[in-house]
Amino acid sequence: MGLVLLPGGFTNVRQPLSRRRFFGGVAATFGAVTLSNSELFAQAPGTQATATTQRFGGSDADYDRMIKLASNENNYGPPKAVMDAMNSAWKYANRYGYPDGNVVEAIAAHHGLKPENVLLTAGSGEVLQVVGTTYLQGGKKVVGADPSYGSVYSHATNIKAEAIKVPLRKDYTADIPGMIRAANDNKATVGFFYLCNPNNPTGVVVPKEEVDAAVKGIPAGMPILIDEAYHHFVDDPRYAESVNSVKEGRPVIVARTFSKIAALAAMRIGYALAPPELIRQMRPYSANSVNVLAKWGAVASLKDTAGQAEVRKKIIESRTHTQRELEAHGYSTIPSQTNFFMVSLGERTVQPVITEFRDKGILVGRPFPPMLNHLRVSIGTADDMDKFLKAFKEIFPKRSATTMARG
Ligand code: PLP
Repeated sequence: MGLVLLPGGFTNVRQPLSRRRFFGGVAATFGAVTLSNSELFAQAPGTQATATTQRFGGSDADYDRMIKLASNENNYGPPKAVMDAMNSAWKYANRYGYPDGNVVEAIAAHHGLKPENVLLTAGSGEVLQVVGTTYLQGGKKVVGADPSYGSVYSHATNIKAEAIKVPLRKDYTADIPGMIRAANDNKATVGFFYLCNPNNPTGVVVPKEEVDAAVKGIPAGMPILIDEAYHHFVDDPRYAESVNSVKEGRPVIVARTFSKIAALAAMRIGYALAPPELIRQMRPYSANSVNVLAKWGAVASLKDTAGQAEVRKKIIESRTHTQRELEAHGYSTIPSQTNFFMVSLGERTVQPVITEFRDKGILVGRPFPPMLNHLRVSIGTADDMDKFLKAFKEIFPKRSATTMARG
């Protein structure tokens, strides 16, 4: 891992922990404990390091048995309206040109934008990669927070670009002034600015004024990628979606996904919203590979406001309950605005704890350096969270809140 420390505590990273390496590590322990397979999680050989290429190497039954709280998925599954729409699209499975529900037009109308503001992608993970490929050519740098969603940084590494990673502040908020400074100090070599809002893995939002400060404070014309994968779960009034900046014609790219609220992670559909010129720059790097079922499911999901509100309510309730229980058990959590949260494990490091949960049939977390004493837990169904809490209390003794150091 080639680390270059920059003034102001910035870290310039050439080779962050790759998902390949991480899943290799998980595979070894997982296989040894519960399953016969040596590689339970592995990435399909020769593929890019994204969530799209994780595959589960155990039997289907092994996979089905696990309680999945490790990947911020929606454990409720797609709502009926979305399933019905996807099922009705099978008749086009043998076609190249087919009615697609006017998905691009539907997305544009949903946001009050035009079709030329939309790039449809195979998950928002593809947006992050397309932005990297478009704006980091020639070894340019991305400025972002640390820790944040690592796929942006690992993609930069894959294409021989770099990341200037600005550590989160002590309260886990993004150091927006520090990030703006990094973008300005390195403006000749920075290709784009990345803001994950709310942030993964912390679940913390960047308030609207700070987003605006970033949009206006970085060098003119520098693209800013605002990753809003989890925006549906936010109820903090200080937060605002960034689509207005796109409407104003600023060089803002908003990344959105149907994986979380609509539970379509495996269907692979997301999109970018940006001014037409940026969409034109990015389009040649997109694979244009979204499948017909995903397109029809996405259109239905945009209309399914009642289904979305219901799942949002359930997830926020479960999150609040789970975090309260953990706090009452003596373990502090980071207030979250997403379908996951982090709990401090005090002096314990996360990897052996992940293994202990796995032994109990629960998949949680992965290490997010430098927050190695924090476990990230996704919010599943109410039943999933009860099982998680039971397992947590078996693994961790009750302690008084005052004895907990914020790890
Ligand atoms: N952005 C963030 C912050 C994420 O956490 C994820 C996935 O977990 C993605 C983007 C990619 O999601 P997808 O490619 O499924 O849309």
